[in-house]
Amino acid sequence: MSEKRDYYEVLGVGKDADAEEIKKAYRKLAMQYHPDKNPDDKVAEEKFKEANEAYEVLSDEQKRRDYDQFGHAGVDGGFQQGSGFGGGFGGFEDIFSDIFSSFGGRGGFGDAGYGRPRGPQRGSDMRITLTLDFKEAVFGVDKKIKIKRRESCSHCKGTGAEGQSSVKTCDQCGGTGVNYIRQQTPFGTIQQTTTCNKCNGEGQIIDNPCSQCHGSGLETQERTINIKIPAGVDTGSTIPLRGEGNAGMRGGPQGDLYVYLNVREDPLFRRDGMDVSFEMPITFTQAALGAEVVVPTLDGKIKLKIPEGTQTGKIFRLKGKGIKNVNGRGIGDLYISTTVETPRRLNKKQKEMLKEFENSYSSENNKNNESFWSRIKNSFQ
Ligand SMILES: [Zn+2]
Ligand SMILES: [Zn+2]
Repeated sequence: MSEKRDYYEVLGVGKDADAEEIKKAYRKLAMQYHPDKNPDDKVAEEKFKEANEAYEVLSDEQKRRDYDQFGHAGVDGGFQQGSGFGGGFGGFEDIFSDIFSSFGGRGGFGDAGYGRPRGPQRGSDMRITLTLDFKEAVFGVDKKIKIKRRESCSHCKGTGAEGQSSVKTCDQCGGTGVNYIRQQTPFGTIQQTTTCNKCNGEGQIIDNPCSQCHGSGLETQERTINIKIPAGVDTGSTIPLRGEGNAGMRGGPQGDLYVYLNVREDPLFRRDGMDVSFEMPITFTQAALGAEVVVPTLDGKIKLKIPEGTQTGKIFRLKGKGIKNVNGRGIGDLYISTTVETPRRLNKKQKEMLKEFENSYSSENNKNNESFWSRIKNSFQ
């Protein structure tokens, strides 16, 4: 754990970075170290994973608060196990929340020395990265993914015991998993709790552990999960699937599955949020005379009128031809910027035609050229 780099350092942002900055920084790293771009590069793969992990924590308000307060210990597995704590205790909750609030934390201190009864624990969260094609991200797509997760053991139904008769309620703690110790202190009598040492806090004693899971109550299963990816997602988007993570211990709820998205670049379209753009070369003659060209958009080809006298750098804006907002509100635009291509490798006849054309020029035909040279003339006089 001590070797882990600081998440803010990993993303190269300040401690006070806002959500947008964090997303931008992650996006940049994800693009740079994406496995598609760095095949067989172990270092890049590690960096990619590291960035994913940092983003997972810093993009989630609760996890970020935990991380700011407790460091890596606040968001690693140990913490998640502890955080199952509040839910499963019934009557003990008050005692424990008092103790813990005096330490300023929640479940993270569960291992801090005094016993912790082990009631149901929430399963841990899982995280996977899913790479989408550009168009899949733009229009949304239904995906199937295979994951391996811990589920309740099918043989013992999660009890950990071989047959119901081998489970007995612990006689020392009466099934609560905790023993109480009363202590006189200068501040009055306090009641301290310790984990029951007979049942290890389970509240139950299993004579004969399950032959399949050896008493853990869990087994690994491969599952196919259907994911509906909404239109407009981008690299850095996360889809949380509640309750699709690992099974909890002792009947605790399942953790969540977080699907991190990475989007491949498109050979033509560049994306900037909801807007898309591309560069289009036009011929010298099209630029001078004007033309009607057929251009691609995200959802098919359309005709675009290039006016007479179009210059390099002219940008055509096609309103509403961009990407739908992932929340369903609004749609971006398509920007097509033009570059006039100067003809190359002219033959003799073409050169003569152009020379003849040049001789027919007036200053009206080339306003920028005229004013440039007259400005130069003035400044050297
Ligand atoms: Zn079992
Ligand atoms: Zn016990």
